[in-house]
Amino acid sequence: MSEKIQFDVIVVGGGMAGSTAAAIAAREGLNVAVIERGQKPGGKNYFGGALYTHSLVDIYPDFFDRKPPLERPVTETGFWFLSEDGMVKATVQGGHVNSDPIDAYVALRAEFDLWWAEQAAAEGAFYIPKTLVTDFIYQDGKVIGVQTDRPEGDVYAPVVIICEGVNNLLTQKLGLIDHDLKISKTALAVKQLISLPAKDINARLGLPDSKHGMAISVVGDVSMGMPGLGFLYTTSNALSLGVGVTLDALEETQIKPYELLQRYLEHPAIAPLVKDGQLMEYGAHLIPEGGWTTLPKLYTDGAMVAGDAASMVNAIHWEGTNMAITAGKQAALTAIEAHHKQDFSAKALSAYQDRLGELFVLKDLKQYRKMSAFLKNHPDFMDIYPTFLNDALGMFFTGFGKPKGKLYKDILRSLTKRRPLLKVVGDMIAFGRAVTGI
Ligand SMILES: Cc1cc2nc3c(=O)[nH]c(=O)nc-3n(C[C@H](O)[C@H](O)[C@H](O)COP(=O)(O)OP(=O)(O)OC[C@H]3O[C@@H](n4cnc5c(N)ncnc54)[C@H](O)[C@@H]3O)c2cc1C
Repeated sequence: MSEKIQFDVIVVGGGMAGSTAAAIAAREGLNVAVIERGQKPGGKNYFGGALYTHSLVDIYPDFFDRKPPLERPVTETGFWFLSEDGMVKATVQGGHVNSDPIDAYVALRAEFDLWWAEQAAAEGAFYIPKTLVTDFIYQDGKVIGVQTDRPEGDVYAPVVIICEGVNNLLTQKLGLIDHDLKISKTALAVKQLISLPAKDINARLGLPDSKHGMAISVVGDVSMGMPGLGFLYTTSNALSLGVGVTLDALEETQIKPYELLQRYLEHPAIAPLVKDGQLMEYGAHLIPEGGWTTLPKLYTDGAMVAGDAASMVNAIHWEGTNMAITAGKQAALTAIEAHHKQDFSAKALSAYQDRLGELFVLKDLKQYRKMSAFLKNHPDFMDIYPTFLNDALGMFFTGFGKPKGKLYKDILRSLTKRRPLLKVVGDMIAFGRAVTGI
């Protein structure tokens, strides 16, 4: 009979949450196994996207000295509001965005996650790649390990940190949440990475050089009236453009995700940016957008759950990796404490939820808890106002020689023909409530 494989901590998934949890626990001297289904960490991971410095430096204070594989810093960020044939840009550069270090960096996850895992391995974490965790091992109702798809692949530890990402089958299996992904609260994002010479990227986006970069949330025509957002990020030699909308909206409208993306890329304001670019990567990934409303129970006897698996995403702010990193760290700190006390009960592990409750992770998810319902109940919101903004600014800046009383009436009419004023007021109040959580 083969020997029992025993660790102090098992981490399921070598993504942002998993490799963070592993690094923190291993740094404390615990024996940590990270079980990752991909060929290597990062191989299965995909995002827009930007990483946020605050969370990276929190795990490795010397983060930048370690020469991480980052693309451009985000030196300009904001919204682009698309109408069918126009665009209003509201972006910010300098000032708060020009912090030291810069707050956000664009990255490619296949490269970054592998590097992030290497940092955790250097702390002592042991990676088991190409291995799928299929179920848990229980003793007296408590989790004491996991089963994998390898022959004789059972691995034991008194505490398991589940960082399995959006498709949270193990979290469901453990009864931490009583339903599968909800299609009204899960977005499908499709993205293309389009290679271009750096000088073209700089010229087309007005960036002074390749040490400057952009992270843009695109609102309006990009989602064809569905609840969703588009994005544009600059890597060193490519543009990352994509759009995410909820699965139920895709089902209702029967719009194909690739058609949505193609339409975005052909928009008159976007097409010149990607002209003559080479397609490097085309992919799709789910985003758990339910936040607080689909938050599972975060702990049970012998296990905790972190990151996308626990719906820890603030889609409006494109915050997911920083939530995953922060939650992974707090889960690891709780596992360390449990080892000190030799108490792995749900009661002991509930400290994880208390810790997260003190931080932006649960505070923000709670504050934005009404957002997905707001977007569902105001399907026109993403369409009417960006289009109106384009109309209004377009009229304002071309209203030469027109009596200005008439100009303002026309601007107002361009709003009220789309939405009666009372409803506009209602929309604004409802939006304010969704953002503030009041
Ligand atoms: C298009 C898009 C754009 C985004 N843009 C941004 C952005 O700009 N900024 C931002 O902060 N966030 C962004 N996000 C969100 C962000 O990518 C996620 O929130 C983050 O990756 C979550 O990290 P995680 O570790 O929880 O999950 P993941 O990174 O998904 O890692 C989960 C890991 O678990 C492994 N796994 C799963 N099941 C098993 C199993 N049973 N056994 C073994 N291994 C398993 C997977 O292979 C994977 O490696 C974006 C997401 C998408 C889809």
